[in-house]
Amino acid sequence: MEFDTIAAISTALGEGAIGIVRLSGDDAIQIADKLYSGKDSLAAIPSHTIVYGHIVDSSSNERVEEAMVSVMRAPRTFTREDVVEINCHGGVLSVNRVLQLALRHGARLAEPGEFTKRAFLNGRIDLSQAEGVMDLIRAKTDRAMNVALKQVDGRLSKKIGTLRQALLETVAHVEVNIDYPEYDAETMTHEMLQEKATFVINEIDKLLTTAKQGKILREGLSTVIIGRPNVGKSSLLNSLVHENKAIVTDVAGTTRDIIEEYVNVKGVPLRLVDTAGIRETEDIVERIGVERSREVLKKADLILLVLNYGEELSQEDEALFEAVEKMNVIVIVNKTDVEQKIDLNKVKKLAADRPLVTTSLLRDEGVDQLEQAIADLFFEGEIEGDDVTYVSNTRHITLLEQAKSTIEDAVGAIEMGVPIDLVQIDVTRTWELLGEIIGDSVQESLIDQLFAQFCLGK
Ligand code: GDP
Ligand code: ZN
Repeated sequence: MEFDTIAAISTALGEGAIGIVRLSGDDAIQIADKLYSGKDSLAAIPSHTIVYGHIVDSSSNERVEEAMVSVMRAPRTFTREDVVEINCHGGVLSVNRVLQLALRHGARLAEPGEFTKRAFLNGRIDLSQAEGVMDLIRAKTDRAMNVALKQVDGRLSKKIGTLRQALLETVAHVEVNIDYPEYDAETMTHEMLQEKATFVINEIDKLLTTAKQGKILREGLSTVIIGRPNVGKSSLLNSLVHENKAIVTDVAGTTRDIIEEYVNVKGVPLRLVDTAGIRETEDIVERIGVERSREVLKKADLILLVLNYGEELSQEDEALFEAVEKMNVIVIVNKTDVEQKIDLNKVKKLAADRPLVTTSLLRDEGVDQLEQAIADLFFEGEIEGDDVTYVSNTRHITLLEQAKSTIEDAVGAIEMGVPIDLVQIDVTRTWELLGEIIGDSVQESLIDQLFAQFCLGK
């Protein structure tokens, strides 16, 4: 494949004393040579070596930087293209200047994740690994970072590979039974097929159960704070934002604007929805009307329902409980520093099995318990295990769901006694759907692997 040459600063801006400008593409070495001045030209040095020299602005002949430059020739590089990395010592300004020079000499500024995209397009990594790298770039908390890291690691790919292998074996087996009766292979029975299919269904289920948490880690848990006026919603919002580092979303590393309010609560990224609304008008119900606010509520992953310890429960409070009936709710009774008027037994009854936390936001009490409740609700202890393969990508989830329903169709067909060569169509389709997760669903490779499996046609 042929691409133009891209360049970008590949270290975090402002971090540390060394900045790296990375170039990738057919002209990477040629372009770098136009800025580099050293003992030998870069074109002359062996691959995977690093040389000392200077970066020179050829228009003024000025030495911009002292630099260590490494040259890595295709295909043994991350992108499988020629790669040059210019290690600069100076701060942000000089790194930027080197990048500008590279752009002036014919490189194009890389888009976020473009190096990774090339690694995929050039066949160096598979699609789920590429998506893992993209997630890494956007990861909002350490935990989300770990999920992405595991994906880059190829964990999901390996898991998918195992499932596809199981499916492929059955398909190959049936094919052999049909096309090569003389080969005298054991005949695939409905029972054997059902056993394999059930195995695949169970494994997909396991992957899908982690999907919800994975998606939350990736996209943030959309959270809405509700409660009557004056119960402490704004105070709660402020304490969540101030106690926890607000996460700034600057995907491309270019903007410093806070697009949405993200906070990291014990590893759970909360996306505080409609916070502007709460800040401005105190009450989303008041501001956008009952119907619309019900819609907002419906889309939320988590509701923080705030009550006032110093007031009796009102009908309005009870109506709020009704509005969030089937949702993830944490009940917060705030203002425990004032005289109790609320009937806590009644609150417990309304809360049913939902977590109930008492706080005094004024005295900064109970906030930690609240945060723990949020974390517990979404990690339930087990998810931390190291051997869990998270699925966090929406595309992956959709494909897994489709694969599951297709293989379930196959099981249904088996149970109805449909001939095996027909059931096989669903099995093959499942194999393809799983293949799309890792970017491999070409029918040809099924054929190739069929023969590789059984070593026929010698
Ligand atoms: P909202 O209308 O639900 O957003 O409530 P606010 O957060 O604006 O708080 C209403 C008032 O209650 C403010 O004067 C807060 O300072 C006060 N407040 C918030 N939390 C507490 C608390 O725990 N104890 C006491 N005594 N006052 C509080
Ligand atoms: Zn308020």
